[in-house]
Amino acid sequence: MPAVFVGHGSPMNAIEDTPYSRAWRALGEALPRPRAILCVSAHYYRRGTAATANEKPPTIHDFGNFPRKLHEMLYPAPGDPALAAEAARLLAPTPVELDERWGLDHGSWSILAHMYPNADIPVVELSVYEDKSPDEHFELGAKLAPLRERGVLVMATGNVVHNLERFNPRMTGAYDWGERFDTYIRTSLEANDRAALVGYERHPDAALAAPDRDHFLPILYVAGIRRPDDSLTWIVDGGLEMGAVSMRAFRVG
Ligand code: ZN
Repeated sequence: MPAVFVGHGSPMNAIEDTPYSRAWRALGEALPRPRAILCVSAHYYRRGTAATANEKPPTIHDFGNFPRKLHEMLYPAPGDPALAAEAARLLAPTPVELDERWGLDHGSWSILAHMYPNADIPVVELSVYEDKSPDEHFELGAKLAPLRERGVLVMATGNVVHNLERFNPRMTGAYDWGERFDTYIRTSLEANDRAALVGYERHPDAALAAPDRDHFLPILYVAGIRRPDDSLTWIVDGGLEMGAVSMRAFRVG
């Protein structure tokens, strides 16, 4: 099974026909059908590593002022408590809390609603532990590799460039610091350069391009799960929305 990182951007992609929603739909059609999905979400950013373990994870509307249609949208995919426990075993000795309070946030369902519109594939979310270093996140990703042999799609969701203080809905181009950082990550992924990826905070544009670790760190799970012989394919290659949100998405394997 391949593994994917998808830049999610605005929750509106869940209900709008955009170049991104079309790319996600095509991705769902191109991938082998998974038995379940383990989704590492930027919006499940907390102390401690946790996996959702409820049979029926609720749809979480973790955003403010959007149209009612978006607030009413449901993504009723089943959970998979056995997969949550399997992920916890693989990540040992890192403790993994089996969490029955969280569900599916928009980092997951805004994409999955296009990839798998029937919501008939079980989904487990894995949190991003805020206190761990980038290298530790890379290692956690590597430990999830056996899931690929077991028919599980590991999907991480965040954004390569994500600055909500600088983004501008009227902007059609991109900030130069956003372009430079996006290109840096593109090049680092193509070179499979672990040091460059886990050292992203040292890039001169990182403070502006990736000020919130939550949206960047999920990338490292897919970088970590990648094998040396895996191909790298761009699902979305470039595209900075509102100047400061990169929609870049890629697939390994
Ligand atoms: Zn987000």
